[in-house]
Amino acid sequence: MSGVSGTAKRPNFVFVLTDDHAANAIGCYGSVINETPGIDGIAEAGVRFDTALVENALCTPSRAAILTGTYSHRSAVTTLATHLTNDHETFITALKAAGYRTAMFGKWHLGHGEGYDPAGFDHWEVLPDQGEYHDPEFYTPEGPVRFEGYVTDIITERSLAWMAEQGDEPYCVLVWHKAPHRPWQPHPKYADAYPDPIPLPATFFDDYDGRGTPAHHATMRIADYLTDVDLKEDPPDELDYRQRAIWKYQRYMQDYLRCVASVDEGVAKITRTLRERGQWDDTVTLYASDQGFYLGEHGWFDKRFMYEESLRMPLVLSYPARVAAGQQITSLVSNVDIGQTILSFAGVDAPSGVQGRDLVPLLATASGAQPEAEAVRDAHYYRFYEHDDHMHHVWAHYGIRTERYKLIYYYADGMGLPNTSDMTYPPEWELFDLKLDPFELQSVHQDPAYDGVRRDLTLKLWDLQQELGDVPHPRQPAPERLLQ
Ligand code: CA
Repeated sequence: MSGVSGTAKRPNFVFVLTDDHAANAIGCYGSVINETPGIDGIAEAGVRFDTALVENALCTPSRAAILTGTYSHRSAVTTLATHLTNDHETFITALKAAGYRTAMFGKWHLGHGEGYDPAGFDHWEVLPDQGEYHDPEFYTPEGPVRFEGYVTDIITERSLAWMAEQGDEPYCVLVWHKAPHRPWQPHPKYADAYPDPIPLPATFFDDYDGRGTPAHHATMRIADYLTDVDLKEDPPDELDYRQRAIWKYQRYMQDYLRCVASVDEGVAKITRTLRERGQWDDTVTLYASDQGFYLGEHGWFDKRFMYEESLRMPLVLSYPARVAAGQQITSLVSNVDIGQTILSFAGVDAPSGVQGRDLVPLLATASGAQPEAEAVRDAHYYRFYEHDDHMHHVWAHYGIRTERYKLIYYYADGMGLPNTSDMTYPPEWELFDLKLDPFELQSVHQDPAYDGVRRDLTLKLWDLQQELGDVPHPRQPAPERLLQ
């Protein structure tokens, strides 16, 4: 058992999860476009994970991975149209069985009705599917309820009210926001925030030279694919193509950052309230997003690709009684690790079949003990199933990310899953050297200088698929050594 666990008071858990909040729009991750003192406060009091990666950069599958601690092929939640059956064991059902009080407020997006309603919660109020930003309806065990106001504020306030009702038993509350998901509708009080031009990312005018067909094929360019609903007003007539692209970027980012402002305000209110109630030290407070997002990098909005901006999720946590403040962890961690880590802090055994790792050994303790481990894995496995859907046209792919390299295989086949195209395309590979090419602009898969790296990573991918129980696509060539 880790030095952070033990016999002391069992912690509460307050887990704030947002939808599509990129690390590049969080102060403590080095944002140059906004400030987030609420989220930063958690990191300052605890830990910032700098290489937290999702196993499938899409809302529904990532939520299932977080709850179950398993990869998409195990949870069977692979696309937006595959939902989580509520016979799954999760970190919530394990906490509840161990005596925790449990509640869920906000965006669920894992299905509704018999067989799909949230399981393991003493109380839940969830948005139907994506939910609405203004005067939203929530599903509850007693039926639908509509609240007046702004969705982010409502989720924060409903969570705080439930927390205030709990007695001495430890509790776990999921504060899972809709924001800052498309179509980015802010609270009216932030309607004029971010009036100054927002800096363009270095890769905004990316032409995708140096990558294969998939980056060209995707329909996520801000310049071409944001809709009237997203933009909410028409660009001025006199602008040329590049100027219109920049204008659309400004409109997109203004509303995105305004939505984030309400999220951060809510986080600050929760941490302030925990302190006022004397619960801050004995509470594990987590902030994460279900995946990253493109904020104009490569000219894009949205997620889906295994490229860094959507692969990487922000993840910070604090637990002042047991975890040293001000830590930055750079080793590879994953969304499948979150549930396992929560259960480790609680001293509760994980359900059988959990594939995530306990991150507690990576942490220095508040009493001064050094971390017991430097890493929990040497490669991260990713798979995106929603092949060539009608809105974004990203090809199905999988791959591995090590500390320095990333290998991607676009198998480009929907395999009959929902929300996928019947079209298949010739498969393609990409390989990136993240040390020399952090923005992933030039694949070196065909570069002879990387023959050894490519061979090692191809074998590693195959091995990781066997280890995790995923089945390589039939088109993926088996590594030579396995044919001997
Ligand atoms: Ca999402």
